[in-house]
Amino acid sequence: MKIRDKLYLISGGSYGELGNAYLIKTKNGYIMIDSSKPDALTTIRNNLAYWKIKEKEISAVLLTHGHDDHAGCAAYFQNQGAKIYVGADNETLQKGNFGPNSPFTNHMAPPCVADVILKEDQILTIDSFQITVYCMPGHTDGTLLYYAKVDDDRVLFTGDMFFIEGETGTDVKTGWKGDLSYSVEKSGMSFQKLWNLGIEPNIVLGGHGIPFINKNAKEAIRSAYKYFLLNNR
Ligand SMILES: [Zn+2]
Repeated sequence: MKIRDKLYLISGGSYGELGNAYLIKTKNGYIMIDSSKPDALTTIRNNLAYWKIKEKEISAVLLTHGHDDHAGCAAYFQNQGAKIYVGADNETLQKGNFGPNSPFTNHMAPPCVADVILKEDQILTIDSFQITVYCMPGHTDGTLLYYAKVDDDRVLFTGDMFFIEGETGTDVKTGWKGDLSYSVEKSGMSFQKLWNLGIEPNIVLGGHGIPFINKNAKEAIRSAYKYFLLNNR
C-alpha cells in the first residue's frame, strides 16, 4: 500500500506475511527497507507489479538487522542488482540461520553476503537520496535504525527495536529476544541514545505492526523507551 506518494508498504502483517518491507522512491529508482520473510517474495513481487515497479529499479536493500523475517528476500533482490546494506549481523545473513549454537532452527533464509556493512552512524546517499543510519545494538548486535526526509515527512524505520500496534496505535512493543546476541544492557543504551537524539519523526515504520502517521509520532519513541524500562529489565 502507498503510505505517502514516495513511500510504500510492500509486505508484512497487512498482507498476511511476517516482517514489514517498505520502499522509498528516489530520483531514478527505489530503496527497500527490510525484505520480509523468504516466503513473502510472491507478495512483494505482486505488489511491485501492482505499482508497476520493476525489480531492477530497486538499487538498494537496507536491512534493519539480519533476522530471516527482515532479510529473507535480500538474496533475491541482490541477484536482481540491488546492493545489500546491513550492520554487524552480516554473519547471520551469510549463514541464513542462527548457527549451531542457537536452539532456534526455524529461522531460515537464503544466505546473502552484504555489499555494505555499516558499523557506525552515518548519512548514506543513494541515488541522490539521503538517509541517516543509527547503530542501535540490543535486539541484535547489528540493529540499525534509518531516518530520512521523504518529501515533507520525517520517517523513522525502527525494525524490531520497537514497533507500534493496537487499535489506535498506542501499543508500543519491543522485538523478539531469542537471538544469542540480544543484550538488555545494549538495548538500554540504545533506547537512551535514541531518546537523547531528540529527533522528531512524524511517521514511524516498524519491522512489524502498523505504520504510525501522526504529528505526535515522536511520542512513540517516549512510549517505546518507557515500555523497555518497565518490561525488559
Ligand atoms: Zn528481529
